This record gives sequence, structure tokens and C-alpha cells, in this order.
Amino acid sequence: MIEEKLRKRLRRSIITVLCIIVVLLICSGLFSAYMHSVRNNSVKEQVILEAEEYKTRIIKQLEADFQTLSTISAFIDSSYANDKKLLAEHLDKSNQSNTFLTIVFYDLSGNGVISTLGQQPVVNASLSELSSEGQRVIKLAMEGTTSVSQLFESLFSDSSVFVYSMPIYDGDEIIGALGASDHIEIFSDILSGNTVLGGGGYIHMLNADGNFLIRSSKMIVQEKISSIFDGPYISEDSKSQVTQALQNQERIFSSFSYEGESYPFLLEPVGINGWYLFCVNTGEGLSANLSASAMVTQVTFVVVLILVIFLMLYGYRLLRNYNRDMMSLAYYDSLTGAENLSRFRQRLNESLGNSGGSVAAVSIRQFPFINEIFGKERANKLLCQIKEITERHLNNDEFFCHDTSDRFYIFFRETEAEVVRNRLNSLISEFERSAEISKTNYQLAFYCGVVDSPKCSDPEETADCLMTHVQFALDRAKGAHSSKIWFFDSELHIKEELENYIESHMHQALKDGEFKLFLQPKKDLHSGMLSGAEALVRWKTNDGRMIFPDQFIPLFERNGFCAKLDTYMLEQVCKQIDSWIKTGIEPIPISVNQSKLMFFESDYVGTLIALINKYNIPAQLITLEILEGLALNNIEEINAKILQLQGEGFRISLDDFGSGFSSLNTLGKLKIDELKLDRDFLLNASDQEQKRVRLIMQQTILMAGQLGISTVAEGVETPENEALICELGCDIGQGYLYSRPISAADFDKRYMKRADSRDLNTVSEG
Ligand code: C2E
Ligand code: CA
Ligand code: CA
Repeated sequence: MIEEKLRKRLRRSIITVLCIIVVLLICSGLFSAYMHSVRNNSVKEQVILEAEEYKTRIIKQLEADFQTLSTISAFIDSSYANDKKLLAEHLDKSNQSNTFLTIVFYDLSGNGVISTLGQQPVVNASLSELSSEGQRVIKLAMEGTTSVSQLFESLFSDSSVFVYSMPIYDGDEIIGALGASDHIEIFSDILSGNTVLGGGGYIHMLNADGNFLIRSSKMIVQEKISSIFDGPYISEDSKSQVTQALQNQERIFSSFSYEGESYPFLLEPVGINGWYLFCVNTGEGLSANLSASAMVTQVTFVVVLILVIFLMLYGYRLLRNYNRDMMSLAYYDSLTGAENLSRFRQRLNESLGNSGGSVAAVSIRQFPFINEIFGKERANKLLCQIKEITERHLNNDEFFCHDTSDRFYIFFRETEAEVVRNRLNSLISEFERSAEISKTNYQLAFYCGVVDSPKCSDPEETADCLMTHVQFALDRAKGAHSSKIWFFDSELHIKEELENYIESHMHQALKDGEFKLFLQPKKDLHSGMLSGAEALVRWKTNDGRMIFPDQFIPLFERNGFCAKLDTYMLEQVCKQIDSWIKTGIEPIPISVNQSKLMFFESDYVGTLIALINKYNIPAQLITLEILEGLALNNIEEINAKILQLQGEGFRISLDDFGSGFSSLNTLGKLKIDELKLDRDFLLNASDQEQKRVRLIMQQTILMAGQLGISTVAEGVETPENEALICELGCDIGQGYLYSRPISAADFDKRYMKRADSRDLNTVSEG
């Protein structure tokens, strides 16, 4: 029971802890996913924010350059336009104080001036000498549109440049176009530096086709490539999608993998010429902080998890140890370390399911005495030695326990009495040999009770039944003086159980009137009439059971209660006779059985007289039946008592004559009035071959007749029995042929109400 409870508790705790771990894992998973998305979002926002910032800077740069260009244009009017030389000088001068590489002016006819930093200004240059991209933007300006060109290879400065162009007005009229080229590198300064993405990223500039305009020096991808489509940036699958998005000037947020790492990037349109900012997050700087905090959280989770697992293991160990302690408290005997009785019962239940076996209870004779002479310590040592020896003797599927004090129970697989006896004997002789106490003069002795499982048939209660029966067998073994083994006997047990009931209930039963007066008629064989009756006791328990005298009289004789019962029965008889007299019915003499104890009580005669006087009954109506065995010894003393009783008027009958050892010689000496021949005579005498018995009966009846003793034959069951006793000259017959003993009330009804019903020739048992 306890074991099961503890196991359940342990299981519950483990499940709870596992649940906690699972919940923690899920939470940690969710949290890190959340952190990841927060980090991604925040990186994305940050990148976008920064890209916007850089975009603004680029636009500001462009605006500043246009501003410069427009300042230059303010000096140019139609006079300047016509005097190209002057214009060239003016442009060259302006060029000294700004960052432009080349400044050009073309009038509407395509003639112009070119001022390149560090070169002689060119006057009368033709528009057609410009690169096509240069021509395109100048022409756009002539049509009134201010614009910035794509990047192209300058014909003048031998580098990649772009051109700003704006129209020149004289009044409302366009008179030409002003253009200025600049290195794309002017944006490098803006884009490079360590502040991009908090130091954790870099920015390239692309054109609408995905070609690099500016490649940051901090780039991760080191290959020399001219387009983002060539490197690892854009996967094959998404190339067309990205191309499309670039055409549409859409923002793209994605990531690429390079050398096993993943890098998020943003493609942000600048808004001029289809240019793009290509921002790559390298995972350092700002996002590194976020990664670090995510990392810290994850590590915290892992630490908590490890902590929980550790706590769980620790708790499990605690619980397991506690469990073990509880188990040893519940199932082990602290003195010897053997299992205890409750564990034994549990194992017994389990083993009996498989097959049978025997249970033996072993006790040390006079253990309290051993405790006293040798001291508690040595007595305890003896118990421990017994435990060790028993342990060695048992087979694998056998077990034993130490109960309280000196009691051990052992389960053997065998059921055969002889085998179990041999095993117990060898066990006991080893106890006797090896136990330390045996080395003294003291002779150790053991007593054992044994019961085998076939004795207990109810499969539900086999274990309980075995344990009760083995106790009983042990009690029986206790009586002997040397080592003794007693096997449980079912019949004996039932008998003893009944005896136990009888002894524990007799006093109360007497008080409650459970002892009933039954009467059996006696027939006068000469007249055929009812000559008297014998009072026989019956015990009717209040739960309706009938207990017969054979079951309790011998016990009452041993325990002394018989004297009380006999007195009680005599009083019942007196009451019965009294009631006949009082109702005018002619009373019949009644025989009462007197036990030896009663007979030898000092005030026996006094008690009898007091009783008959109480009910005013003539002593002549009472016949006292004494037992044959009583008369064997001290005939003198008995005769004295008989004479005393006869003096008071009582009749004396010798019961069960022939069942014991009394001889005709004894009979001759006893002063009795009646002799009752034991029913054994009839049992044997009816057998024709037993002529000898018949002869004895005949001689007995003859001798009794000569001594003036009337004879009663008991156990008359058949007409043949009756014929025989009549032939032998017996005076009275008693037996089932006439009637079984019946309750006083029935007897009353049957024989006492009418005079004619006393004729036993007509009335016989049905
Ligand atoms: P008992 O005194 O020899 O009584 C005769 C017994 O034989 C009675 O048994 C009776 O029922 C039985 N019996 C009578 N006729 C026949 C028959 O034809 N065939 C057979 N087979 N048996 C017959 P019961 O009543 O069971 O009594 C047994 C014994 O118990 C008595 O033997 C007597 O010794 C003793 N007893 C009975 N009542 C008392 C009592 O009140 N006090 C004392 N001390 N002993 C009593
Ligand atoms: Ca009798
Ligand atoms: Ca008898």
C-alpha cells in the first residue's frame, strides 16, 4: 500500500517537473522566436532609418551642387553667351572655387565652352564632342529640364563621372545649357565611414540595373563584381523578382548568405536616376547588441533549464531516499533487518497466486527467559543470527520475516509435510548449533507450527487463512518441551474452535438459559409402561445452533464447569417434577447425570437436599447417575456417599457399565440401585457371532438381579435389540426405539398429559 502510494507520488512529481521543463522549453522557444523577430524588425527599421538618412545626405549633396551650378549660371547672360572666351575665363575661375571636375556651357546651336580643372579651357567646343550621356543631359537642359546624368566615363578627366545640367535663361528665353561633372566618389565620403548602421554595416550605391556605382571598402563580399546579380547577394530564384523591383524603384529587404553566415540587406531607392542604396548589415554594432541581448536571454533560459533539471534530479533523489526510508520503515524490521510481517503477508499473497506452498511459524522456547539470563543484547544477537541462517537456507522464491519478539514466519515452496519437516529440522538444528548462546550450557529449543496452502481452499483468503492456521499450529507446538513441529489439522482445528467458543461462552450461556432440559423416556420392559426418563442437556445458542453434550461435557469436566451445569440441570428437573405435581399429573422418576466433580464436592449432598427441598420434591423421584469410572477406586468412600444419598431417599444408578474396566467384582461391592448397561453391549451383542458379549450381559443382568439392582439397557434402537434385552431378563429399556431425547415441553405433551400415553408398547418413535 505504502509502496504504491509513494511510487504514485514519485511519478506525479516527475510528471510535474517534466511539464515544467516542457513549458520552459516552449516559452524559451517562443521567446527566442519573438526576440529574433524583434531583432529582425528592429534591424530592419534601423537600416531603413539609416538608409533614409544617407539618402537625404546624398540629395543634400546634389542640391548643394545644383546650388553652386545655379550661382555660376547667374553670371551668364546673352553677352557672355556670345563672348565665348570671356565665358571660358569666367567658368574657369568659378571652377577653381568648387568641387566640380569640368564645367561646360553650350548655346542652343551646340557651340560651347569647356573648363576642366587643371586644363586650359576649351573655347568653341562642339556638343557632339561630349559623351552621349553628357549630350543627353545638356540637351535636356536646353529643353528646360534640370537633371543629373548617369555615371559615364569622362572624356576629359579619364574617370567615372556624372553630370548636373540646367538651362540658362536670358529673361524668359533659354539661351543655352550649363553642365558640371563630378566624381561619383563625392558620395563615397558620405557612404564610407564607421558610422553606418552603428558600425555594424556598410552601404554600396547601385544603379537601376543593379550595377555598382560605389562599392564600400568595408564590404564583406570580396570578389570583384560589377553587379549585385553576379555575387552571392541575390539567389537565382529571386533574380527576376529583384530586377523587377529595381525597375519599379521599390524597397527590398532580404538577406544573403556568405561563407556560412547570413546577412540581412536593404535595397533603398535614392529617388534619382534609379540609383539605389544597398545597405548590408554585418551583425556587428547595433544589431550585435540585439543579438547579444537575445543571446543573454537564451543563455539565461538554458541556465534556468539546467537549474530546473538539477533541482528535479535533486528532488528525485530526495524523494527516492525518502521512499526507501519509508519502505524500510514499512517493510523491514529494524532489529534484524529482515522483512516484517506486513511485507511477508504481501509477498505471501503474491506468491500464492503462482502456486502453493507452506507457511511455518518458528518461535524460540522460553525467549523471555533467555532475555533475562543472557541480557537483551545477546538475545537480540540470537535473533539476528537466526535471520542470517534462515536467509541462507531459503531458495530463491522463498521468503521469511521477523515479526515481534522471537517469532519468525517462513514461506516454503513445498507442501509435502515430510519435506517441510525435514527442511525445518535442518534449519532448527543449525540454529541450535550455530547460535552463540548454544555455546553456553543453555539448550536452545524451538517450536514451529506449519500449514500448507491446500488446507486453505478459498483463493481470496488463502494468505489470511494460512496466517491464522499457522498461529493455531504454533500454539499446539508450544506445549512440548523439546523442539517440536506441529502441522495444522483442519478437523482438530474445528473441534478446537468449538471448544474455544464453548469455554468463552459457557458462563453467559448458563445465565441466559441456553442450556435446555431434554428428556428421554425409559420403558419398563415387564409392563411396557413408561417407567421414568433421563434428563439430558442440550445447548441451544442464541444464534440457533444446537450443541450436543458430547461436545461440551468432557470439556466442562476438565474445566470444572460441569458441577455448576449439573446443579442447574437438577434444578430444571425439580422444576419439571414440581410443575407435574402442581398440575395434578402423576410424576415419573427422572435420572440426572452427575459428574465426578459434582459427586466429590464437599457439600454435594447438602446442595441436592437444598434443591429438592426448595421445590418440595420427594428424593425418590430423583435417580443420580454416576459414571463407571468413578467407582473403580476407593469403593469404600463412594459407598459411604451412596449410602448417605440413599439415606436421603435418592436412587443411585451406575451409568455406562461395560464401557470401562469395571468388573462384575466391582459391581458386587457397590451399593447401587440401578445398573445401566452401556449401549456398546447392544451394538456388539446383536451380532450373533459375539456370543461372549451376550454371555457377559446375561451374567451381569443375573448378578444385578441377585443383588437387587434393577438393570437398564441403553441404546435400544431396534425391536431385535428389545427382544434380546427382554430375553436376557433386563428390567428397563432406553433408546431411540422409544424416543430420542426431546425437549421437556414435548415430553410433557407426548407422555404426561394422558395416562394411556404412558404405554410405550403403543407409543414409539416415528
Ligand atoms: P449418557 O448418560 O450415556 O446418555 C445417553 C446418551 O445416549 C444420550 O446422548 C442419548 O441421546 C444417547 N442415546 C439414547 N438412546 C440412544 C440410541 O438408541 N442410540 C444411540 N446411538 N444413542 C442413544 P447425549 O444426550 O448426547 O448425551 C451424551 C452424554 O453426555 C450422556 O451420556 C452423559 O454422559 C452426558 N450428559 C448429558 N447430559 C448431561 C448432564 O446434564 N450432566 C452431565 N454430567 N452429563 C450429561
Ligand atoms: Ca446417563
Ligand atoms: Ca449411559
